[in-house]
Amino acid sequence: MSNTVKPSVCVFMGGTFDPIHNGHLRTALEIRDWLNAEQVALMPSKVPVHRQQPGAESEQRLAMVEQAVAAEPGLYADAREVLSEKPSYTVLTLESLRAELGTDVPVCMILGMDAYLSLPGWDRWQELIRLAHIVVVKRPGWVYQPGEQMQAFTRAHEVTDKQRILTAPAGHVIFHELTPLAISATQIRTLVSQGHSPRYLLPDSVWQYIQQQQLYGCKSK
Ligand code: ATP
Ligand code: MG
Repeated sequence: MSNTVKPSVCVFMGGTFDPIHNGHLRTALEIRDWLNAEQVALMPSKVPVHRQQPGAESEQRLAMVEQAVAAEPGLYADAREVLSEKPSYTVLTLESLRAELGTDVPVCMILGMDAYLSLPGWDRWQELIRLAHIVVVKRPGWVYQPGEQMQAFTRAHEVTDKQRILTAPAGHVIFHELTPLAISATQIRTLVSQGHSPRYLLPDSVWQYIQQQQLYGCKSK
């Protein structure tokens, strides 16, 4: 984490962030306030293991996250997956966080509904809940329609009181509703590749970086 002092709760949101947008940033900030956490980490993956290869390199995706959080003390970029030699398996990330924080600090992993429902495809997915809590945020366009495995998983781990996740190191799933923002990185990549502006869906500093680096088929002006 960014501090050497151990936080009372560690909250992070992983993703491809290809690019980071206001849906990610607003989610992270609202969860920070809801859990009274000092900071929330945004952690870009290196090579995404569960999806198509991204449009920007991992260093560029990290740079965009860094730009996006630069002026917000409640958020920071965690570069561990980008810097790691290993593939970005979340279970390895959680093991690395645990090695730093010890066994007692609550660790909360924020997942959008789409990511939560895809968990059974993740490496060693059943172990994740022993290492962290999962905070599931609703996302416009994604309703909770679990398969059999996820239904059983949710039933086994769901709590509704946030105190439960702040007073145990791991083991619970909690659903939380936030300001709904129907923004996706896919939409932004499509707009940019078609020559349209993605402005106001993401920070201006990130849009400037996309133009400078000519990402996503962006033609320099
Ligand atoms: P893509 O369209 O390329 O999949 P994305 O917008 O879904 O991009 P990701 O990097 O895939 O962004 O998502 C990282 C995490 O953020 C996931 O847990 C995802 O569910 C969550 N997330 C993304 N966009 C939103 C949003 N608008 N509201 C809430 N959660 C979101
Ligand atoms: Mg996604």
